[in-house]
Amino acid sequence: MAAIVLIDGTNGERLPVKPAYGSPCNGCGYCCATQACGVALDHIPGHPAEGACQALERDGERFVCGMIRRPGHYMGLPNDWADGAIGGMIADALGAGRGCDAEF
Ligand code: SF4
Ligand code: SF4
Repeated sequence: MAAIVLIDGTNGERLPVKPAYGSPCNGCGYCCATQACGVALDHIPGHPAEGACQALERDGERFVCGMIRRPGHYMGLPNDWADGAIGGMIADALGAGRGCDAEF
């Protein structure tokens, strides 16, 4: 039987399973891989209205928000000097750290 080529970039690693709504976020990435949020749609030039977020980044065994980590990269800014301030505002707007808000 021929080998099945993995195309999801995980190399077959086990990633976190989505926890229940309201539980601490474990970085499973399910929410952002299912549908990009308003931050992405409003601030990433040309982002498609449907589908996974282009700013979803993998960091070890979890996924993180690239718009918090390095917003200038995704917004097309000429440098990264404002990443800390903008990323902090985005983290507040998204409610980062307040638990899983994905009800699906
Ligand atoms: S908010 Fe929920 S679905 Fe989204 S990454 Fe965190 S645990 Fe996963
Ligand atoms: S901008 Fe961040 S929180 Fe919003 S969908 Fe993309 S990765 Fe998720």
